[in-house]
Amino acid sequence: VLDTDFFRRWMSAVSAAVDREAGRLTELDSAIGDADHGANMRRGLAAAVASLEEERPATPGAVLVLAGRRLISTVGGASGPLYGTLLRRAGKALGDAGSVDAALLRDALRTGVEAVAQLGSAAPGDKTMLDALYPAIEALGESGDGFEAARRAAEEGAAATVPMQARRGRASYLGERSIGHQDPGATSSALFFAALAEAAG
Ligand code: ADP
Ligand code: MG
Ligand code: MG
Repeated sequence: VLDTDFFRRWMSAVSAAVDREAGRLTELDSAIGDADHGANMRRGLAAAVASLEEERPATPGAVLVLAGRRLISTVGGASGPLYGTLLRRAGKALGDAGSVDAALLRDALRTGVEAVAQLGSAAPGDKTMLDALYPAIEALGESGDGFEAARRAAEEGAAATVPMQARRGRASYLGERSIGHQDPGATSSALFFAALAEAAG
């Protein structure tokens, strides 16, 4: 079972990974966007982790809802509302249990990712974060605890965005010139799943 502390560790690990990789995220966003993805993610996750420390939410669901809310309120770019929606919706789907099993986490994340797809009117193949998120959730497997497999699937999903042409978000303004670059949001999504595997290990 996954307790509240596991979810806090997960969010701290995402924040640390984003800090480490901020330069790379910004570099990717400078090729097909406006060069702020690293800074956006850093600011949002630092605020989320600070709020988790201050407010000490008592359940896994409350941890994700609070982190999602902070991402929405602190990140100006598209990624704030999108990741914020993912975490808030997943947190709501976890309910108010004090601990959850991995299968419930997988189902909750799927609900969250579907909400992201709806909010952004995007689908797999559009060269967005969804191209890492959907394969990762599938790779979690029947029992939901395929954390290492999910980490790999998210990384592969992010790499698979390189030959795609962007159909959503800022990168879509570039048309064919978006081809040949990895999507920044798919890259940060891979960090969420790397951090999940880290928190589980
Ligand atoms: P902005 O584009 O507003 O500067 P960011 O740079 O922080 O925001 O985030 C860009 C990332 O957001 C993209 O790489 C992509 O993965 C994701 N994204 C943008 N628009 C959408 C959308 N409509 N649906 C899903 N993901 C999106
Ligand atoms: Mg940007
Ligand atoms: Mg921006």
